[in-house]
Amino acid sequence: MKNLIEPFKIKMVESIRQTTAKQRLAILKTAEYNLFMVRAEDVLIDYLTDSGTGAMSDRQWGAMMIGDEAYAGSRSFFRFEKAVRNITGFKHIIPTHQGRAAERILFSIIAKSGLIIPSNTHFDTTRANIEYNKAEAIDLVIPEGKIPDLVHPFKGSMDLGKLDNLLKKHHKNIPLGMMTVTNNSGGGQPLSMENIRATSKLLHKYKVPFFLDACRFAENCWFIKTREKGYQKKGLLDIAREMFSYADGCTMSAKKDGMVNMGGFLALNDDSLAMQARNLLILTEGFPSYGGLAGRDLEAIAVGLEEVLHEDYLRYRIRTAEYMGEQLLAAGVSIIRPTGGHAVYIDAKAFYPHIPPSQYPGQTLVCELYKQGGIRGVEIGSVMFGKKNPKTGADIPAAMELVRLAFPRRVYTQSHFDFAIEVIINTFADREKAKGMKITWEPPFLRHFTAHFAPISR
Ligand SMILES: *Cc1c(COP(=O)(O)O)cnc(C)c1O
Repeated sequence: MKNLIEPFKIKMVESIRQTTAKQRLAILKTAEYNLFMVRAEDVLIDYLTDSGTGAMSDRQWGAMMIGDEAYAGSRSFFRFEKAVRNITGFKHIIPTHQGRAAERILFSIIAKSGLIIPSNTHFDTTRANIEYNKAEAIDLVIPEGKIPDLVHPFKGSMDLGKLDNLLKKHHKNIPLGMMTVTNNSGGGQPLSMENIRATSKLLHKYKVPFFLDACRFAENCWFIKTREKGYQKKGLLDIAREMFSYADGCTMSAKKDGMVNMGGFLALNDDSLAMQARNLLILTEGFPSYGGLAGRDLEAIAVGLEEVLHEDYLRYRIRTAEYMGEQLLAAGVSIIRPTGGHAVYIDAKAFYPHIPPSQYPGQTLVCELYKQGGIRGVEIGSVMFGKKNPKTGADIPAAMELVRLAFPRRVYTQSHFDFAIEVIINTFADREKAKGMKITWEPPFLRHFTAHFAPISR
């Protein structure tokens, strides 16, 4: 068959609301041209993030009804623990309310001033938790991973030469090495099993523990199955088990490949580290058998972790991004290639060559997509990552000006995607009319969430 269908049918629906172009213009003005300040009700198709925005299955909702809300030793905890251990094989499974809580606990124990923590690319909350504890977060992705239109099957891979150099000089000051699967900040790009194995071997040679940031482990397993020699006939669970077998622990946001709206965990083998982690957990998250989650949430994660490794689901999931990518490329829109697991990244610099980075082409595109069709994406460019010259206060632009369209799991159908593609192509046809934006107000940190913008009038 040529047609690939969504491997589910719909049992419950949620209405989405069409708005007129005039209404959207007024909504944008009220929101100071910042899409984070637009109400979700006013968005037709929401591609802001794939985090916690997915649809749960009937089996997950069913499991929630039998959640055991006992404070200590709840049955739901043991079901959750079994599900996580079945995939990861780790000895200690510690639930947390989301991924960053697992990171905070891990890095409050192991990170301190003078220490270095390398990764392919640290996700922003991971980096922030490392830096908050005064350690240094270093990104060592392969050079191919930084070239937007260079096609490479495993663009998220660790640069083993650079890692070896770092370990040679500093291994005494490296408490842990990490790998983000898939590489979120680099476009949702996967890592090969060979690279994961080699990274593990290298770190262990210097007696440095190896942790995975496992948020999108299942999507990464699909790429290994379809792209890496020797894995075509292997089952996804076996691939996942092999991947985790190289690591000493992981942090996980279950809002991604846990297929739930809230949850996460820290899992690891080291007894003493686990004891310290549980002590911190009790202090801020909750008792070790619930860690900030309700019993029913633990049930939903247990089922989600099983469903996320279904072949039909992952085939449809990865094909979704690929499909949108193909249509956009055919229309002349530049994107990060190849498409990754959870999102399509449009190159806004190429989309609007007449708008300089100082006038935020990514923010311009995010606003134009909303105006054109009520689509919400997110700028990943100089608004989010631009720095300021400490002396002159002048903007130093980010390396790339991107707009990310991230896909909630099991939420939108192909016709939603076809509609979104049409909106992007229409916006592209109108590209010469677009003018840049300026920032009219900004907070001292993380300005992209709350900054105010205005269109530049010429
Ligand atoms: C989302 C994410 C996190 C943080 O998880 P939260 O649940 O949002 O706290 C960490 N790492 C990666 C790669 C992520 O995508």
